[in-house]
Amino acid sequence: MTLAMSIVTNQLKQLTPLSVPDRLLLGPGPCNAHPTVLQAMSTTPLGHLDPAFLQIMDEIQSLLRYVWQTDNPHTIAVSGTGSAAMEATIANSVEPGDVMLIGVAGYFGNRLVDMAGRYGADVRSISKPWGQNFTLDELRAAMAEHRPKILGLVHAETSTGCRQPIEGVGELCREYDCLLLLDTVTSLGGVPIHLDKWGVDLAYSCSQKGLGCAPGASPFTMSPRAMAKLLARPTKVPNWYLDMLLLGKYWGAERVYHHTAPINLYYGLREALRLVSEEGIDNSWARHQANVEYLWSSLESIGLKMHVEKQYRLPTLTTVCIPDGVDGKAVAKQLLTEHNIEVGGGLGELAGKVWRVGLMGYNSRPESVDRLIGALKQVI
Ligand code: PLP
Repeated sequence: MTLAMSIVTNQLKQLTPLSVPDRLLLGPGPCNAHPTVLQAMSTTPLGHLDPAFLQIMDEIQSLLRYVWQTDNPHTIAVSGTGSAAMEATIANSVEPGDVMLIGVAGYFGNRLVDMAGRYGADVRSISKPWGQNFTLDELRAAMAEHRPKILGLVHAETSTGCRQPIEGVGELCREYDCLLLLDTVTSLGGVPIHLDKWGVDLAYSCSQKGLGCAPGASPFTMSPRAMAKLLARPTKVPNWYLDMLLLGKYWGAERVYHHTAPINLYYGLREALRLVSEEGIDNSWARHQANVEYLWSSLESIGLKMHVEKQYRLPTLTTVCIPDGVDGKAVAKQLLTEHNIEVGGGLGELAGKVWRVGLMGYNSRPESVDRLIGALKQVI
């Protein structure tokens, strides 16, 4: 062993057991996981083909259909974060040369553009300033111009805190024989979603925001229309890990080994979803709305302004304008180091202009607002 190596080895031996600061996570995600979710995650792992674990997978599928308000048989959790589920929607729907129209009004619209291009889509994008959304007429005009096979929209743009209304978009897509793909990463559990009523064909989300779990097991769903396109494609899905035809054999009746599921994350996801269903999805949406309204009025009471027009603000994520002369980064740092509260900074067009405050899942409570406002009063 070299000298340097032995020094490192000695240092490693002195490491103490894991200990992390007790933070209140009020940024863009993750949020704090619910205590019973953490308890579920520390349960001993089962084998990934154990009938008791397969039962848990079935329950996750039913619970996901409930929170998403869909009957899609092909509804699963992808082993990975929201970006993996995002990539699953693209990998399973895009064939090289397909025109995909993407609405870009923030950071995650741009990520969809990047991903779709990597899978050979002929990407056409339309854009709006960050903090705004697309009207149905704007979408209709773009559909007429580009005649896409897939339309991709972000329901809850985490970089801006703006909600994209989806009512009417599914009908528009059917007029053009186009699939509707929706990012629900920052909306699932906290913002009303009706996938089937809206005619959404492909959707993805994450576990660490409105569902109140840890990151790593990400909801993914495909409608029968999306499945028909997948079954008709002449070439294999160019991503082995995310190929729904292979994953479907593990999640469906065949129960064929595909990959070793992250068992404990699935325990956590099942518990997080169970808590939402115990509360009732409508009650969860109402709780997020009530608490965010309390946040907005509390922020206004200390002189702060929101970036997005009220009717399109998200219940899960608020962009708060950094007042002139205030160093936004320094404030966020002080909140973290002196008050153990995490808030996010602005991304892209909004860098340096806003803080991003999340009230998601377990953290969507009046106490979270009170703690943040108390700390902001001291820091600003
Ligand atoms: N889409 C949106 C709207 C997001 O907010 C995020 C992450 O915050 C993602 C996709 C990617 O999810 P993840 O970071 O879990 O991979």
